[in-house]
Amino acid sequence: MSELYASIDLGGTNIKCVFADAEGTVAASDAIPTASHEGPDGVLFRIGSLVERMIERAGIRPRALGMGVPGLVDLKRGVTRFLPNLATQWRDVPVRDILSPRLGCPVYLLNDVRTATLGELVFGHGRRVTSFVFFAIGTGIGGGIVIDGKLRLGPLGAAGELGHQTVIPDGPVCGCGSRGCMETLISGPALSGVGVRLVRSGLAPKLHDIVGGDLNLVTPETMAAAANKGDGKVREEILRAAEYLAIGIGNMITALHPDMVVLGGGVVQMGDLLLNRVRESLRERVHMVPVDDVPIELSLLADQAGALGGIALAMKRGLIED
Ligand SMILES: [Zn+2]
Repeated sequence: MSELYASIDLGGTNIKCVFADAEGTVAASDAIPTASHEGPDGVLFRIGSLVERMIERAGIRPRALGMGVPGLVDLKRGVTRFLPNLATQWRDVPVRDILSPRLGCPVYLLNDVRTATLGELVFGHGRRVTSFVFFAIGTGIGGGIVIDGKLRLGPLGAAGELGHQTVIPDGPVCGCGSRGCMETLISGPALSGVGVRLVRSGLAPKLHDIVGGDLNLVTPETMAAAANKGDGKVREEILRAAEYLAIGIGNMITALHPDMVVLGGGVVQMGDLLLNRVRESLRERVHMVPVDDVPIELSLLADQAGALGGIALAMKRGLIED
């Protein structure tokens, strides 16, 4: 069997582990619940057991393991700095030094969206273009910037937090401490909140029907379906969201003139209603570069971006320091 690499995608709900070869062909995958209330020691112990089980099944030890985590890390030391969505927040947990001796291979840590950007670089659109900007629009909005075939990390690995661009100067308060960040306006929960308000005020009859009156089912996707069935107010809000997204994308195009903008995450499943307006708005806003020559594309890896990003990280492909 060819050489394999391993990836761990540490999420708030689940931990996914994938073994794949250098072409990104997945040989094995498995998942366990995160159960972050157990704290870092408990979670890391179970991650070690998960990888050991997979080593046993695959009959081969991975050459290295890349791990995407939801927050900030110390890249050089393989230590988590702050994972805000996990219990105890994982301040200064020496993940590399705990896992690497147990698994008998090098372990590398990186923020999860930067990891997904690496996946797109090595196994997705990055096979065709050398500079692109990645927006992951889901529960939050993360991002990553690839310039000339390298992921831009910055000295702290924090470069590319594209969801925290100011879009409305005095907009809603953001978790980061600022106001009117893109994340406060067009993340999945932000959009769903708008949809729920419209249903409650009787302004979204189609959306009400689609979700059968269950407000928990109001999502960007059901909102797009309602807009396409004739809910005018829902449609207006989606077009407004497209404007905010276009402001953020336009800023990046003006700053970097990338070959491409790549979009991932659940919100972009809203489809053409959102994306056509984004393209229109970019034409109105961006005049310093020929914006029609910068394609706006959906991620080629979709929900595999995190897993394959971890493989790219394990291979140390596309990193500035490789
Ligand atoms: Zn923010």
